[in-house]
Amino acid sequence: MSARPPRGGNAARRSARSARFNRVRRARCDRANGGYGRRGRRDLVLTTTLQPCLQCAAVIRLGPIAAVRFAGPDRYWDGCHDFGKLSAREARRGQPARTGPRRDELDIFATLISRLVHLPPAYEEALRALGEGPMVDLVHELEGGREVDRLAAMDVIEGFGYLWPRLQELAKVLPA
Ligand SMILES: [Zn+2]
Repeated sequence: MSARPPRGGNAARRSARSARFNRVRRARCDRANGGYGRRGRRDLVLTTTLQPCLQCAAVIRLGPIAAVRFAGPDRYWDGCHDFGKLSAREARRGQPARTGPRRDELDIFATLISRLVHLPPAYEEALRALGEGPMVDLVHELEGGREVDRLAAMDVIEGFGYLWPRLQELAKVLPA
């Protein structure tokens, strides 16, 4: 490859620089995607605690991901993964397969621990409107009573056992 500067003034130099930048960017994207950009491979399975939000669903849709498995529902973003409704082109494409939510105490546990680290006021208000008030109340109870610190020191099985009675109570009152 030639290292000589291109001829033809500023516009040609800018164009060559832009082409070089795009080649580098493309190579980085291909590496990051395991070659997805070149070969269209889509064979990874992503396992996640909480149902992906809109932004995550978009990244999953664009990435080399064949299937998503998640434990807990996120009522706020429910339905946002369905890109097939956006355009005729998306409707023709295969969308990543989804498994979840689980519909048991483990799904409530997954959603609850996700809410412990992310519950801005507007989000909380929307979750209450969607029927998740009892879980939001439990988040505040756990945070106010410093139980979050105790939970953080436990492994997942211990934490699940510690919260079990309250997860069972939530299972009775949360929307399906
Ligand atoms: Zn997300």
